Amino acid sequence: MNTRILFRYGLIACGLLFTVACSTTQNAASAQQETSEKGTSEFEKAIEKSIAYEGLFTVYQDTTNGSTKLAIKEDQLDKEYIYFGLSQDGVLEAGHFRGAYRDNKVFKVRKYYDRIEFVAQNTNYYFDEDSPLSRAAEANISEATLVSAKIEAEDKENGIMLIDGNAIFLSENFNQIKPSPSPAQRPGSFSLGSLSREKTKYSEIRSYPENTDVVVEYVYDSPFSMGATSDAVTDNRFVTIRFQHSFIEMPENDYRSRYDDPRVGYFMTETDDQVSTDATPYRDLIHRWHLVKQNPEAELSDPVEPIVWWIENTTPLEFRETIKEATLAWNEAFEAAGFTNAIEVKVQPDDAEWEAGDIRYNVLRWTSSPIPPFGGYGPSFVNPRTGQILGADVMLEWVFFSNRMREQDIFADDIAMRERLGEAMNGSYCTFGHHMQQNNQFGMSALHVMGAPEEEFSEFQKEALTMLILHEVGHTLGLSHNMQASTLHSPADIHSEELANTIGLTGSVMDYSTVNVSSDRSNQGRYYDIKPGPYDIWAIEFGYNPELDDEDYREDVLSRSTEPELAFGNDADDMRSPGKAIDPRVMIDDMSSDPVAYAVDRIELTGELKNGLVEKYGTREGQSYQELRNAFFTLMGRRATQAGVISRQIGGVYRDRAFIGQDGGSRPFTPVPAEKQKEAMSYLAEYLFAPEAYSSSHDVYSYLQIQRRGFNFFSSTEDPKIHDLVLGAQTNVLNHLMHPATMKRITDSRTYGNEYSVADVTADLTAAIFEEDADSNVNTFRQNLQIAYTERLIGILGSDAHDRIAKSAALYNLQQIKEMTGARGAANNETRAHTAHIHLLIDKAMES
Ligand SMILES: [Zn+2]
Repeated sequence: MNTRILFRYGLIACGLLFTVACSTTQNAASAQQETSEKGTSEFEKAIEKSIAYEGLFTVYQDTTNGSTKLAIKEDQLDKEYIYFGLSQDGVLEAGHFRGAYRDNKVFKVRKYYDRIEFVAQNTNYYFDEDSPLSRAAEANISEATLVSAKIEAEDKENGIMLIDGNAIFLSENFNQIKPSPSPAQRPGSFSLGSLSREKTKYSEIRSYPENTDVVVEYVYDSPFSMGATSDAVTDNRFVTIRFQHSFIEMPENDYRSRYDDPRVGYFMTETDDQVSTDATPYRDLIHRWHLVKQNPEAELSDPVEPIVWWIENTTPLEFRETIKEATLAWNEAFEAAGFTNAIEVKVQPDDAEWEAGDIRYNVLRWTSSPIPPFGGYGPSFVNPRTGQILGADVMLEWVFFSNRMREQDIFADDIAMRERLGEAMNGSYCTFGHHMQQNNQFGMSALHVMGAPEEEFSEFQKEALTMLILHEVGHTLGLSHNMQASTLHSPADIHSEELANTIGLTGSVMDYSTVNVSSDRSNQGRYYDIKPGPYDIWAIEFGYNPELDDEDYREDVLSRSTEPELAFGNDADDMRSPGKAIDPRVMIDDMSSDPVAYAVDRIELTGELKNGLVEKYGTREGQSYQELRNAFFTLMGRRATQAGVISRQIGGVYRDRAFIGQDGGSRPFTPVPAEKQKEAMSYLAEYLFAPEAYSSSHDVYSYLQIQRRGFNFFSSTEDPKIHDLVLGAQTNVLNHLMHPATMKRITDSRTYGNEYSVADVTADLTAAIFEEDADSNVNTFRQNLQIAYTERLIGILGSDAHDRIAKSAALYNLQQIKEMTGARGAANNETRAHTAHIHLLIDKAMES
């Protein structure tokens, strides 16, 4: 039984049964009056017209003007509490949205003469109390005094002091609601005005023995708003953010912190051991739930308190069973850690007396918001002193199932999404739902064009929802991403339903793998993972098995990290953005142990599907062409993504994090074999750069129409921008191959085995982009590509970020290009113009 849900009074008693709550306060006050006439009269006067929300911190709210007083008991002084801030509702543009987890910190309540201070503590450092150094633990560490409030009345007899609650809750002292202006912010983008003291008000107060929650409606005024507006904002001048402050009692229990290891991926609180002489003086606390066996002797036991999930009553009925099953699927992983029934799932009743934002409940929430920041998000909040997870939610967005499409997101990786959200999200942000939605749209389009039967679509959607829930619930258990997990099976095994059902489609549901649609309908296995994979089971054992408190056992478990099915690499390791990270096995949107072969298969598939689009979507009488257009952009987006996957081989370096002497480990860095890199280059030449790569299937382009809505073509015309689309895919890959980090690594890694030099890579690129039509007419896709490539070579010449080896290669290739294109004798007008353009660019670059 979860004790956190037992304390269910407070708001109900105070809010609904108004008179009862009031008289309770008065009774308490008159009882106090008997004991201390003078001391309480002042105290009593201060709260006489107030409702009391009694709990960890008692909040008195004045019934005449809504202001609050906070009661501090003497025994609360100098004690630590946990603060947790949660956006209850907001506008995405301002970095707030329903269910966004914000600050999570430790604070102390202190008395300074006639004032009460709330002081945030720095939890980044650890000092062993036995070391004399611990006496200097405060050296050069700045605490943050968040609030200092005058004691307005005191009940000396009972040791209670009253301070102004407005200074704490109606301010931004505990959590900065309005984001600081960012230098990267574009002029004219949305921004909040000034906090209105008059309009900002309490929306809800709840107090329980273990936590006190105050929900505030912050209103920001900007009378002459200049910034961009949002449909979600009713009037741009007045914007409301609903925000919840929670003060939480520091848990006193036998929870034992568990320290992080680089071979497993958990969210964590980083802590430095300040008295250690170690090269890695880390005591990084992984985030995990406090699970205790009912029967500690038993190999398998139910926990004393399971992790209880509630499906929010806003969840569409038809999804609830799948959500429940997917959440409970994690119990398999906990069994490896010694726990049965670790997770329970219940449904929030329609007439529940608590709301989903209540931190005492872990809720699988469902919303459909205007600009969904994700399809799913699984945050948790912790005790920063120990890493114990105290609560979590999973936010799900209806957009996950919709066919809405934001074409500007086709090439946007989630970095763009992060930028849109600013600093709101810190480390826990997950764009998996967004990633899934793109994959779902691809999968659905593929099924449509390949003529799959109706029941296949519902099976597909069920697997997709299962995958989403598995992933987001995985986050709430403490797991971070594992972008290497999709390398588990060979391309030959990847469509085996048997393997997917027993072992898993990938090693981990924490990967962003691609939807596994088979190009052969008769050989369709699982589209997505339907259960935690071998890595997930191992990671849960690492995090939760009580036996791992034993150092030797911990080492035994960790020594397995070299097993291929336990491969792990997180967001910092993955190569999703151009120039980022080093190991091509750690990539999003890839699949199988041969991601290049798989990507080529995807590209072939998108080509075939593209040819079937007009026939499948263009014949739906009585409909506009919007769906055809969405399907086309989805296919092109997938195709571009797969070209990106292929490109990561070039200049790639496999990294191994096995510890020294660990069985199965290799040296940390091994360059990708030259043959593999060259193979990747030849596929890029064929599928991305070749003259015919995009010039076929012209017929579909004339159907790509958006359904008109109002005046929505004012900012851009409605005709399809085919050349921009194609060039976008091509430059995405050039951005990676010609990135200073990639080019430097190609050269550096030659010292430890790389045999594909910058000179060779650029020569092969130049050949791929220029050779085939060097003596003939150049089509317009190639004209764009050739100029873009030439401009990038010129850019390297003048770049501070590139090394001299890259500059020399750039210079040489520019000379080669001029030579190759110099003899275009019989060319048509446009090719002559294009060639003259290239020559001018090169000549100018050579002069300067
Ligand atoms: Zn995620």
